[in-house]
Amino acid sequence: MTSLTSSARSRPINQTLLIDADDTLWENNIYFESAISSFISYLNHRVHTPEQVREHLNHCEHATIAAHGYGLRSFRRSLVACFEQLTDAPITPEKHQRIVSFAQSIADHEIELLPGVAETLADLATRHRLILVTKGDPTEQTDKLRRSGLAPHFSAVEVLPEKHNEAYLALADHHACETSTTWMIGNSPKSDINPALAAGLHAIFIPHDFTWVLEHEVVNQPPDGQHLLELSAFADLLHHF
Ligand SMILES: [Mg+2]
Repeated sequence: MTSLTSSARSRPINQTLLIDADDTLWENNIYFESAISSFISYLNHRVHTPEQVREHLNHCEHATIAAHGYGLRSFRRSLVACFEQLTDAPITPEKHQRIVSFAQSIADHEIELLPGVAETLADLATRHRLILVTKGDPTEQTDKLRRSGLAPHFSAVEVLPEKHNEAYLALADHHACETSTTWMIGNSPKSDINPALAAGLHAIFIPHDFTWVLEHEVVNQPPDGQHLLELSAFADLLHHF
């Protein structure tokens, strides 16, 4: 991990805060990890260790996401593909149903907000423009936002197919974001922090203990004139904004 710039800046107003959703506002990856554990137990592979199965599932997920994007449907496809590739026998309808149930268990979870999120967002929304910036299946993500009860705090919602440098540039242009007053806030170095810094924005990294392995990356140093803060909790945003 690189050392991050911290500062004692006075709290500015009228900033544009771009805020990630999964594992920044609410729990998400822990449900996937739990489903994956169930899947690996069910597969109960005679040759491959659980770690090797997990490694192979990561490969399957890379391929599925490249072809079909993020979301539960892709995850279901990845589980089925992994199962088929690691077992010799054809997958029976019964087995298929069982594998689908692991993915479905994720959709069935209530939205579980991370500590302090509801109060912090309500406060920030009185002084700043908040835009939700997430990636994934638009129907799934907007449904989670609706169920979270947080939607009224956001002036706009963006569900992107991928969160890369170009996506942030387009988003900043579309919403007339001044780079000097716009901050991307999230738990993922790969999707939230590094591409936002590359697009000229400030960034706030709020690590989550169980960030998805496909989102892991070393956090870059901010270019001159841009700020990067690392906070241990979402509520700490109120010390800076
Ligand atoms: Mg996230």
